[in-house]
Amino acid sequence: MLNLIILGPPGAGKGTVAHFLAKKLSIPHISTGNLLRSNAHQNTKLGKTALVYTERGHFVPDELIFNMLFERIEQKDCTKGHILDGFPRTLSQAEIYQKRVEALSKAMVIHLDISDQEVMKRLAYRLICSVCNAPYNLITAPPKISMTCDQCLTKLAQRTDDQKEVVASRLAIYHKNADCLIDYYAKKNILKTVSCNRPIQEIVDEIFSKIDLI
Ligand code: AMP
Repeated sequence: MLNLIILGPPGAGKGTVAHFLAKKLSIPHISTGNLLRSNAHQNTKLGKTALVYTERGHFVPDELIFNMLFERIEQKDCTKGHILDGFPRTLSQAEIYQKRVEALSKAMVIHLDISDQEVMKRLAYRLICSVCNAPYNLITAPPKISMTCDQCLTKLAQRTDDQKEVVASRLAIYHKNADCLIDYYAKKNILKTVSCNRPIQEIVDEIFSKIDLI
């Protein structure tokens, strides 16, 4: 069983990287943000509760995140492992998750390194499909038909939490926690840092070469 964690600030490209890795390794990409957005879209109790936090860029309480995540990683398609995107966000989430999966699996953490300035630029142009979660960027990866998802033809929108003021708060929260997380995984000797200010294929190739080394 191989479990991968993709760490990085909002806009670093965690979802895109996880998507490529999932295809190559045939293990599912699990984004806690996507799970929350799907719940919100379906108007579930969890989705409604989570919206209060996500719309402000605040963390959803751990109990909700763990119930949702542990239920997901117990599903059949996760028997060979999983790729996490957006989790863990804090040291305590990392420690609880570690206890749960440690005995069962080989783990590796990919840290996507990118400047705040580049993040602000990327998120200003990011669009997302509310139905299938496919990500787009008006400059670097526009949809084929204006404001329409290539895959399911749903109308695209900017995430409410990608607005400038919310991004600034999300970045501040990320930086408050990131050093502890990076240090935690570096001490376990399972951390690989990859620079993200370059084309996605180069990033993915470097990650594959690092995974192969394990
Ligand atoms: P993301 O799509 O990863 O940027 O997540 C969107 C929002 O969902 C975040 O800003 C948080 O409000 C919430 N969220 C996602 N993952 C977590 C997590 N592991 N812990 C707490 N809140 C989370």
